[in-house]
Amino acid sequence: MADAKTIAHWLNNATFTGAGATAPVTAPVTNPATGAVTGEVLLASVEDARAVIDAAAAAYSEWRDTSLAKRTQVLFRFRELLNARKEELAAIITAEHGKVLSDALGEVTRGLEVVEFACGIPYLLQGGFTENASTAVDVHSVRQPLGPVAVISPFNFPAMVPMWFFPIAIAAGNTVVLKPSEKDPSASIWLAELWAEAGLPAGVFNVLQGDKTAVDELLTNPKIKAVSFVGSTPIAEYVYRTGTAAGKRVQALGGAKNHAVILPDADLDLAADAMVNAGFGSAGERCMAISVCVAVEPVADELVNRIAERTRTLRTGDGTKGADMGPLVTKAHRDKVASYIDAGEREGAKVVVDGRGVQADGGADGFWLGPTLLDNVTPEMSVYTDEIFGPVLSVVRVQSYDEALNLINSNPYGNGTAIFTNDGGAARRFQNEVEVGMVGINVPIPVPMAYYSFGGWKASLFGDSHAHGAHGVHFFTRTKAVTTRWLDPSHGGINLGFPQNN
Ligand code: NAD
Repeated sequence: MADAKTIAHWLNNATFTGAGATAPVTAPVTNPATGAVTGEVLLASVEDARAVIDAAAAAYSEWRDTSLAKRTQVLFRFRELLNARKEELAAIITAEHGKVLSDALGEVTRGLEVVEFACGIPYLLQGGFTENASTAVDVHSVRQPLGPVAVISPFNFPAMVPMWFFPIAIAAGNTVVLKPSEKDPSASIWLAELWAEAGLPAGVFNVLQGDKTAVDELLTNPKIKAVSFVGSTPIAEYVYRTGTAAGKRVQALGGAKNHAVILPDADLDLAADAMVNAGFGSAGERCMAISVCVAVEPVADELVNRIAERTRTLRTGDGTKGADMGPLVTKAHRDKVASYIDAGEREGAKVVVDGRGVQADGGADGFWLGPTLLDNVTPEMSVYTDEIFGPVLSVVRVQSYDEALNLINSNPYGNGTAIFTNDGGAARRFQNEVEVGMVGINVPIPVPMAYYSFGGWKASLFGDSHAHGAHGVHFFTRTKAVTTRWLDPSHGGINLGFPQNN
């Protein structure tokens, strides 16, 4: 505890420890590989939240009027600094989230892609122009920023998920308040410092640490014009309802239960590798993790053998020491995930590989749970119905493609899915028929590139905008159509009729 640091808010390009006279409320931040408390994060009061929102509001008009050329220069500098120092950020992520370093670096790289996309903002903001729409009348459209916007992010991608949103929001001329997860808040402050170093003016990028109190202020404060949220489905729905009721534009990405279908003609080695990577990467704490492997008979026995063989070779341990898989984010989450394995076993699933007694290469008090493979899972079991968000891969055996498709389409979530096959016709049918927002064909984690948009369907997304790509530009701007007449030889005098084009 002696070394525990305070993780504060960020306002006007400096740390901010709160607006109130009383001592701030804090929550502990742990290193999941050791169980040690490494920091105390401030939890904002309503007054703290208002101070940060006010800073974002005060900076807006000047940033909005800053030329695209100047905004873009800051973006490019931020991109260069982030690229040069991404290992530093990866180490911060591993220390608070637990994911292994190579995975943390992958997260930063995917965020960097969005920064690179946002560097093209002058092109992305181009409007349209129609000459002579009516006689001597021209029409053009422009895209303008919204104002101060909020980004509320989950624990599992403390750098990438905020970067799905804020580079585009800032490039488009908005100012931002980021409310990161209280479980791993340090990445947000590192990013804020980097923005300052890149020359972003004070107040354009701000960080508000906290919990529900902070979120509720962001959702209801009239100065915040839009909210981008990523997290679990119940909170996403709450954020969407509350934010839109307050008149804001809201995109709220929720939870997931991603299925991968393995058809009998698939390359089973490729499929088994993919199931292990997508099931256990980041200890299953990814919204695009595969948690259900749907084996279309007669391949289930062989597939389960191959997945089990590979799973047994995985090394669970401290993410800084070369392990394949790190710990879970908190002890409470570790215990909850383990309880799902207990429940699955009680309900009749076969525990083929059991992670509950894992010997991890890490601290004795780390939040360890090894990769777990369950076979003969059925749709009634809680291990199937619930989003577990841990290293538990369930195999459901089905007799046909139609049965597999029906399972996915009747699931309440629709974030990601994949099919493994060598049959192009079957793959084409699947991508057409499946009711899921992101589809992989022989690709287990089909996370779209920055210039496409990321988002699920059904209970995996509330709102109609996905993250980044064209949707991101659309979300963070509003359009204005301007009709102009300069030279009109016959303006027609007084006429109270509705204008008609001629
Ligand atoms: P969470 O819903 O617990 O928290 C997300 C954010 O909401 C955090 O900033 C948190 O402080 C805040 N929050 C928590 N409870 C709140 C409440 N009662 N009122 C207001 N705000 C509240 O999610 P998490 O555990 O941090 O992240 C894991 C979840 O996020 C999983 O369900 C995962 O599938 C989902 N996720 C989805 C995507 C996607 O793109 N769809 C991406 C990453 C994570």
